[in-house]
Amino acid sequence: MNEPRKWHAETLAIVAGRSPTPGGPFNVPPTFASTYRDGGDIGYGRWGNPTWSAFEETLGELEGGLCVAFASGLAAVSALLAPLPLGSTVLFPSAGYNGTRALLERLEKEDRLRIRGVDVVNTQEVLDALDGVDVAWLESPTNPMLGVADLPAILRAARDRGVTAVVDNTFATPMLQQPLALGARYVVHSATKYIGGHSDLLMGAVIADSESQRDALVEWRTSNGAIPGVMEAYLALRGLRTLPVRFARQQRTAAELAERLDDHRHVERVRYPGLVTDAGFERASSQMGGFGAMLSFEVKDAEHADRVVDCLRLIVGGTSLGGVESTIDRRGRWKGEENVPGGLLRLSVGLEHPVDLWADLDDALSRAPKSS
Ligand SMILES: *Cc1c(COP(=O)(O)O)cnc(C)c1O
Repeated sequence: MNEPRKWHAETLAIVAGRSPTPGGPFNVPPTFASTYRDGGDIGYGRWGNPTWSAFEETLGELEGGLCVAFASGLAAVSALLAPLPLGSTVLFPSAGYNGTRALLERLEKEDRLRIRGVDVVNTQEVLDALDGVDVAWLESPTNPMLGVADLPAILRAARDRGVTAVVDNTFATPMLQQPLALGARYVVHSATKYIGGHSDLLMGAVIADSESQRDALVEWRTSNGAIPGVMEAYLALRGLRTLPVRFARQQRTAAELAERLDDHRHVERVRYPGLVTDAGFERASSQMGGFGAMLSFEVKDAEHADRVVDCLRLIVGGTSLGGVESTIDRRGRWKGEENVPGGLLRLSVGLEHPVDLWADLDDALSRAPKSS
């Protein structure tokens, strides 16, 4: 399908991955099959599935590459890191997603990889660290600090120096940026988050920029068994169809809440690239199609933050993000997040009415007892 590339993402999300068969259903149904009769192209359930393919075609169209679905975001991350030649050097964001960092640290401890942590927001530091690197693992905006990396500059430099660049696009989604077009070789997603969008499944994906890379990923998935469930793929595709409209609304509400939180007397700092005062504002304005629906804000300390969460009545305490419901998480409580400020609360803005969300936040911030 070459035609649809001219369409907007909102349209692609609807039309991509549809079966054109006359008399067939509009939606590709979940195909529950471990085994297929001889004579077709699949054969066995670990080798492929029509429901995975419909999901992959749709997300691939949105990212502008070739998509391979995995059992979770980390299964997708692992499909890129585990097959690297022994002793490869991987550059990564030292203040990025803790799951990827934990995997990298384990692979280093086992003497499989060398790793080099950088502050991805500091472009000069990243460029200086690129020499001798095999893979540059990037994330922007970062989870949970909402730091914005200069993706155009870093991806250009990586290309020039023959470094394979990977961008975890979970927070931005293809609605805001398409890193393959900027020179990344791979994009990674936790489809568990915005793509699935309803907090009811785990799934991941890698989008590659060439057929040979895609084929290698499929082979890795087949021989390692890191395959998604069929129902998950069906639900993730169903979620993906409404990603553009969900994300637009969530983003609008996030911008409004960020402004209000920024003015609140009990909030010390808001991290949201859409605030003009945010360190990432200019960069995000020039390289992203919007500022996203994740924000973090800091209150006095960890104790106060925990009490704020306890006082919320609408926003749910919980560690995941990207769902229709707003969720809040004090990141510092997790292992591996010791460097995150104790009073930092990460808010994933959902689809509730912004007035209700603000009333809940304002009420909890005002009622939560302060530590002495
Ligand atoms: C959640 C997350 C992952 C891991 O995805 P899972 O689906 O939980 O395995 C990877 N990257 C980022 C940025 C995430 O937020």
